[in-house]
Amino acid sequence: MRQLTSNVYVETEVRGCNHGFVTTSDGVVMIDSPHKPTDALKLKAEIARHGPLRYIINTEPHGDHWSGNAFFDAPVIAHEGVRTRILETDMAEHVERVANFGPEEAPLLEGYTPNVPVITFKNGMTLRVGDHTFRMIHMPGHTLYQAAIVIEEEGVVFTSDNIFHKVQTWLHEANPDLWLSALESLRGLNEDIFVPGHGDLCDKSYLDEQGSFILEWKEYVKGAIDRGMTRDEAALNLNGLIDRYPMDVGQAALAPMVMRISAANLYDYLTGAGAPPQPPSLTLRPRGV
Ligand SMILES: [Zn+2]
Repeated sequence: MRQLTSNVYVETEVRGCNHGFVTTSDGVVMIDSPHKPTDALKLKAEIARHGPLRYIINTEPHGDHWSGNAFFDAPVIAHEGVRTRILETDMAEHVERVANFGPEEAPLLEGYTPNVPVITFKNGMTLRVGDHTFRMIHMPGHTLYQAAIVIEEEGVVFTSDNIFHKVQTWLHEANPDLWLSALESLRGLNEDIFVPGHGDLCDKSYLDEQGSFILEWKEYVKGAIDRGMTRDEAALNLNGLIDRYPMDVGQAALAPMVMRISAANLYDYLTGAGAPPQPPSLTLRPRGV
C-alpha cells in the first residue's frame, strides 16, 4: 500500500474500490474494504502491524466497498442507506459473483456473513479516535447514500465513487444533478488530497473534468429522448462515451454493460419513469461499482 501522509495509507491498484486506513494514537480506522477476500486478508495482516483495528467506515452501498468488511473484527459505520442496502442484498448471488474473481476466493467465502454497519448516520457525523477527527458528510450523487470522509488532521478526503479519476464513471443509479452539487461540496472543503472511489489519487483540479463528463452524459441522454429514441436505443449508441476512459482495474469486459445501465438510469431519471422493471439486456449486475 502507498503511504499518502504521515498516518494515511491507501490502495488504488487492486480490483474493487480504493480503500485505506488511518493510524491514530488509539488504533487504526479503515475506510472501505477490499472486494476480493484474498486482498482483505493481506490488508488485515498489514493493519495488524500498525495496531488494533477500531472502526471501519464505508463510503457507499456498492458491494466493492463493503464485501471485505466481513474479514475484519470491527464495528462498521456508514450512511443508514448503506446498512439497508446490505441487508437487502441477495447474499448468495453476491458471494457467487465475488467467488468468480479467482480460484483462491471461493474457499474464503464459505459461510460468508456480511459485516453490516451498526453505527449509522443520515446527514453526517463526527468520529474521534485518538488524536484524529473523521468527519462523514452525506453527499448524494453516484447513489443517494454517498458520504465523503474527511480526515481533518491529515488534509485527506475519501470521496467515494462521486469521483472516478481518469477511469470510466458508473452512473447506473446516479442522480446527476445531486452529483454535480456533491462535486461543489467537495470543492468547498478545506482539504485537497482526494482518494477517489476509483482511479489514482487526485485533488480539486479534477472536479471540473468529472462534472463535465456527468453533464455530457446527461446531455447525450436528453438529446436521445428529444429525438424520440427508446430507452434501449439510447443505451446502445454510446461509442463516444465508452471510449473516453479506460475501465478501472479488472473491469474492462464490463464496459458495454456499464454504459447500458448508466444510460438506462439517466433515461428513467430524465423521463421521470422511476425504476420500471428492466429488460434482460439491462439487468446484468445493476448493483456493481
Ligand atoms: Zn459505487
